[in-house]
Amino acid sequence: MAEIIDGKEVSQHIRKEVAEGVGALKRESGIIPGLAAVLVGNNPASEIYVRNKRKACEQVGIYSEEYKLPEETSESELLLLINKLNNDKNIHGILVQLPLPTQINSERILRLVFPSKDIDGFHPENVGLLLEGNPRFVSCTPNGIIKLLDFYRIEILGKEAVVVGRSNIVGKPTAILLLHRHATVTICHSRTKPLGDVTRRADILVAAIGRERLITQDMVKEGAVVIDVGINRNSEGKLVGDVDFEGVKEKASYITPVPGGVGPMTIAMLLWNTLESAKYSL
Ligand code: NDP
Repeated sequence: MAEIIDGKEVSQHIRKEVAEGVGALKRESGIIPGLAAVLVGNNPASEIYVRNKRKACEQVGIYSEEYKLPEETSESELLLLINKLNNDKNIHGILVQLPLPTQINSERILRLVFPSKDIDGFHPENVGLLLEGNPRFVSCTPNGIIKLLDFYRIEILGKEAVVVGRSNIVGKPTAILLLHRHATVTICHSRTKPLGDVTRRADILVAAIGRERLITQDMVKEGAVVIDVGINRNSEGKLVGDVDFEGVKEKASYITPVPGGVGPMTIAMLLWNTLESAKYSL
């Protein structure tokens, strides 16, 4: 039976560290880290996410601003706002909540956020630095996954790691971070066939797919560490992951639950990156 990796607990430790760092920075330099969240349109899930971020900022002493723009906002209007935030010395981190409405080119917008304020780590300059092994900001979810493994003293070096999902936000950066920590990494996607043959090789299996309970017990090696990034709503409206938790926990050595696993780490790492950004600004 697997040990449950408690993301809530680990994220509390990180938040405490961030709160101490924010206090020290303020005392030493008078700087208060500032985060601006930009939300376009009426996506209820994004609104909840942004509200949670605001609360989290307040708890650790980070100044936060929230911009809610209407669904019909044009790309040039959004650009003006990003420009203003880029040049605002009280703002150290800019977060543009995805997805953006279709009339706006997300890629273009994300490239306009100054790399030095791109606390999500999405700008090509930050992606390049990550690939090189000299990251400025590591995207929050992948960074959170590594922190979870480290907190539980799970060895990465020399292990066989399999990441299912190749998005720029989760899959690819997670694979790169595991590679930098000397795992042997395989990335799977929707055309990997048969998926189970690859996932069964994993000592560390990361599921970042967005498909309810796709990873079943028979796809997991005995004693594997299973990290479930997925957030899906099942037919009863309950949040579930990409992993069949009940079945897989019988076989894994460690497993993250959904909710309460990777999710809380994402917000904690966002606070962490905002503090780091404020420190770089000195
Ligand atoms: P994307 O939709 O961008 O990527 C999903 C990936 O899964 C793609 O690479 C896709 O392959 C792959 N995939 C889809 N179906 C299959 C399949 N049947 N077999 C193998 N691979 C498959 O999603 P994200 O990376 O943005 O997010 C993944 C999940 O993580 C979502 O549930 C999301 O809500 C959640 N999430 C959770 C966060 C947290 O804080 N816990 C933060 C961010 C995301 P292909 O490339 O071939 O299409």
